[in-house]
Amino acid sequence: MVDMSSAKASYDKVLKLLRDHHEWFNRSIPLIASENIPSPAVREAVMSDFGNRYAEGWPGERVYAGCVYIDQVELICNDLARQVFRAEFADCRATSGVVANLAIYAAFSDPGDYMMAASIPSGGHISHGKKEHSGTAGLVHGLNIEHYPFSKEEMTIDVDATKKKIDEMARDGKAPKIGMFGGSLFLFPHPVAELAGFMHDRGMYVNYDGAHVAGLIAGGEFQDPLREGADSMTMSSHKTLWGPQGGIIVSLEKHAEPIKKAIFPGNTSSHHLHHVAGKAVALAESLEFGKAYAKQVIKNAKALAESLAGFGFTVLGEKRGYTQSHQIAVDVTKFGDGGTIEKELESAGIILNRQLLPGDIKAGRHYMHPGGVRIGVPETTRLGMKESEMKEIATFIKRVVVDKQEPKRVAKDVADFRKQFQKVQYAFDNAVGAYEYISLVSRKG
Ligand SMILES: *Cc1c(COP(=O)(O)O)cnc(C)c1O
Repeated sequence: MVDMSSAKASYDKVLKLLRDHHEWFNRSIPLIASENIPSPAVREAVMSDFGNRYAEGWPGERVYAGCVYIDQVELICNDLARQVFRAEFADCRATSGVVANLAIYAAFSDPGDYMMAASIPSGGHISHGKKEHSGTAGLVHGLNIEHYPFSKEEMTIDVDATKKKIDEMARDGKAPKIGMFGGSLFLFPHPVAELAGFMHDRGMYVNYDGAHVAGLIAGGEFQDPLREGADSMTMSSHKTLWGPQGGIIVSLEKHAEPIKKAIFPGNTSSHHLHHVAGKAVALAESLEFGKAYAKQVIKNAKALAESLAGFGFTVLGEKRGYTQSHQIAVDVTKFGDGGTIEKELESAGIILNRQLLPGDIKAGRHYMHPGGVRIGVPETTRLGMKESEMKEIATFIKRVVVDKQEPKRVAKDVADFRKQFQKVQYAFDNAVGAYEYISLVSRKG
């Protein structure tokens, strides 16, 4: 039996660790490309009672009572998603980007079918992956995955080689059913316009996974997959889009019914209604502030790449100006390995992640100690940082990685630097600090 004092001790410890985490992030530089900081309004939605309710089904056709206000919010959310992505249909119920992808697999393919996707070192996501790597597409839906030929120089999918490969697969009786675009290491647009027609002519369904770049697409500053020929776009709601964690699918109207069924009952029961409310708030913010934000994100990513290159770092995609998105990829093999450098930077309060780069697997490197790091600027941009701050961030990184300064010493300067950036920008309201801890139990740390 658990004794009461230790239950209370654990309870207190958890509440204290939450506060510690907030304080740590408040003095650090958050550079994880797949993360962002939501507005106080999104945090308020997530704390609401919506999170304790059930509403299976579609608004107006629920399995549960008690959905009077929930239905209204969900309809607003779907309407905003259609506007933001200029889509005929939107479903905001996917509880994550992975669940959104699973719904597409379930709606448009059968186990044993083939799908084209980017490999992980070429930027693909594990949810597009093969069964032998425990990738969602293979392991959960039984798809066979073939990888797009990828150009390391251009850092994108090779169009001609892909066409050749798809026709060869068809000749071998392995005609692919789905063409999946998008990825997690994602510097330059994928060739949707160049390949969607070719794929449709061969009976393929085209999905674009905009998990990383949804906020840039919302702002009209990356590619526009639905105009380029994609049937649907899946996404996370919390990367460059600044919502709570979750997923969204937008598509052509003709695909609405199979997608709705694949989400419920196929892949969800509860669809996390507090997060639907948070997605609605985030989409409204995106409609108002998304363009200015996306422009600044891309400027910041380029500025950071240029500064790092100036310090002798090998930044990928140099030939094309390093990036057209919110992230950059840096080959750090001159200075160590991605895993060790990630740890050292973390001790300095610089939070980013190691990254497998094209060629790493062939060179015998693996995901614990890959050749690169990935750096994203969605969160620092939301905090109001601009190009000059990117130069300062590059200098902090250089001090740790190149000059081998003591990370703890750099952490002090990082914390000082962060003091000027305490509020979320590009939002209707920001009275509460970006990482301010909101206590409902009035417990002092
Ligand atoms: C992050 C990511 C996902 C997964 O999204 P979750 O919301 O974490 O489930 C899917 N696809 C790509 C390309 C991603 O980068």
